Amino acid sequence: MTARLLLLLIVWLNAQAGFCISIVEQNLVRRQSSGGISSSSLQVLQENGFTGQVLTSSMAGFSNFTQAWAMNYNESPQLALVPLTSNDVSVAVKWANSFDYDFAVRSGGAAASQSPMVIIALSLLNTVDYIPSEGVIHLGPGNVWGDVYDAMADLDVTALGGRLPLIGVGGFTAGGGISYLLNHYGLASDSVIDAEVVLANGSIVWASSNANLLYAVRGAGFTIGAITEYVVKAYPKPTEIYSGFVLFNMDNFDEISAFVANTTATNTDPNVALLMGVVLSQGVQTILIFPIVYGDEAFAKQSLPWIWELPDPLLDSTTNVTWETLQNLQLDFVSHPLPTDDYQQHSIVVRSLTTSVIQAAVDWQTPLLSDPRWAGLQILIEPFIPNSFSSHFTTGPWPHSYPTMHVIQLFIQEADAAPADSLENFNQLVTGAGLVEAAAGTGNVLQRYPNYYLQGTPADQFYGPNLPQLQVVKREFDPNNRFNKGIAIVNSTS
Ligand SMILES: Cc1cc2nc3c(=O)[nH]c(=O)nc-3n(C[C@H](O)[C@H](O)[C@H](O)COP(=O)(O)OP(=O)(O)OC[C@H]3O[C@@H](n4cnc5c(N)ncnc54)[C@H](O)[C@@H]3O)c2cc1C
Repeated sequence: MTARLLLLLIVWLNAQAGFCISIVEQNLVRRQSSGGISSSSLQVLQENGFTGQVLTSSMAGFSNFTQAWAMNYNESPQLALVPLTSNDVSVAVKWANSFDYDFAVRSGGAAASQSPMVIIALSLLNTVDYIPSEGVIHLGPGNVWGDVYDAMADLDVTALGGRLPLIGVGGFTAGGGISYLLNHYGLASDSVIDAEVVLANGSIVWASSNANLLYAVRGAGFTIGAITEYVVKAYPKPTEIYSGFVLFNMDNFDEISAFVANTTATNTDPNVALLMGVVLSQGVQTILIFPIVYGDEAFAKQSLPWIWELPDPLLDSTTNVTWETLQNLQLDFVSHPLPTDDYQQHSIVVRSLTTSVIQAAVDWQTPLLSDPRWAGLQILIEPFIPNSFSSHFTTGPWPHSYPTMHVIQLFIQEADAAPADSLENFNQLVTGAGLVEAAAGTGNVLQRYPNYYLQGTPADQFYGPNLPQLQVVKREFDPNNRFNKGIAIVNSTS
């Protein structure tokens, strides 16, 4: 296999990293109100002043506004409402509530926001408006991050956005997104100064008008309303970046995991970051090291010398890149990953990243390689420097404490030939998370990551001691739990 093909396969697998949704819970919860949408109700929608597009499932373009990333997540929605204004969103929410139609708010669709009835697709709320005098950017949630980076390509500032251009601004920012600048500036939701929100009763409010609302928007925005505009801080764009992929075979695993653990424990320079993957190419475990260094080649090689000193890499594509190229790095090889079969992911967050933790993730992955039910199995280790998350501890519900946090992601995809089912995928991920957590040890395991959720995971595993406060805010703004997609903040007994 050529190095380029190998890279293509690995990056393709890696790029599907967010196709994570289990149908386990949605089948239990969401199909309650899956009756038909009457034509008379559609007439009411127009009479109430909805000015956007109204698409039924047989109409051209419907899937552009409703398609699920993970095919297992598809709930065959009947209707797409595509608002042009915040007022349209308000009309749509009030209308859906008055007919008790289940609905999902969709921005980029990368988390496969779904409903068996109505998708309120915010794709056309796609402004990108930088205001230099205020140092802020007004962002429509319907942008995907690639559109934002394109619109800001000529500026020397950027927003804290997704690490793949396909991700939507709406869901990413609502869940506390990790950008390539996390080590410098914190979470994307930290950068939210204000947000316009359409609440369950249809009112349109600015989050800054209510401390509780602003709190919930920063890390649990998907549960509180439909966010129709973000006002985020603008940050200086890095001018020099050295990045790319370096691949090794598993013979180097012990050495590399020791280097990664040591780098994680000792590095405090926000200009030096890396990701480690253990990914599969045609069933072969392969180590992926992805340095992201803000500086020139000499600085990168002085900061992380072991990456380039290890013998016989399968591939080394590291080079000087621009900020925009960094965001597109994976897409150089993937034009648009297709919606994929049952694909789910789970996150574990640890206080300290040890070789035992990395080994446990590989110990989970290895025996599954020979099982014909699974094809896509991968691990992504995301170390961060101390205090990367700290500014968020009091501004939003996630995370709630701990100066040092690292994310381990596990991914699983059924094989086409001998498919597992969603529940088997779900159970495998829960097993894997258990193994990693056991290796991490009591006191080293922190809350899970909202942007990488395995649906059906109890909300307290994401929001920890902040959950009760979040539930209070939820009941204040959405007492009937109309915004019920993503992590279930309110259960039937609360
Ligand atoms: C390939 C890939 C790479 C990824 N890389 C990263 C990464 O680098 N960093 C990171 O942090 N995350 C990453 N993710 C995770 C991603 O941030 C989440 O999946 C995010 O929710 C996607 O947002 P979206 O708008 O595209 O998704 P959608 O499916 O449209 O929405 C996701 C959730 O948010 C809700 N929602 C969407 N828009 C709004 C809104 N305007 N108001 C209120 N609720 C809303 C939806 O109802 C749904 O529950 C990645 C995902 C994928 C698929």
